[in-house]
Amino acid sequence: MATDQTLRCRECGRDFLFTVGEQEFYASRGLVNTPSRCPECRAARKSSMQGGGGAGGRREMFTATCSSCGREARVPFQPRGDKPVYCSDCYQQMGGGGGGRHSGGNGGGYGGSRW
Ligand SMILES: [Zn+2]
Ligand SMILES: [Zn+2]
Repeated sequence: MATDQTLRCRECGRDFLFTVGEQEFYASRGLVNTPSRCPECRAARKSSMQGGGGAGGRREMFTATCSSCGREARVPFQPRGDKPVYCSDCYQQMGGGGGGRHSGGNGGGYGGSRW
């Protein structure tokens, strides 16, 4: 028997309601964990991830074709026809960026899966 649960937001520390309806929604999507943030913080996170909030300097990324390997390259500047564009992989191989800027790896959303 499902009941509403009161959870504490780990972002702002406030209690919020995890309603039966939300629990069913989560279950229907195969999610087993309870949400760790209140709806407000979730909405704030989501909008900042979509770059809509202006909440601090997320750069716009442009898509181009890598001049070296031909794969999709995502670059933080507008690609222009007169300059070669490289994917992050090739760029690093050439020692371009001086490293370090996105060295963390985990959770960067840059590059991604197996390369
Ligand atoms: Zn919150
Ligand atoms: Zn490349």
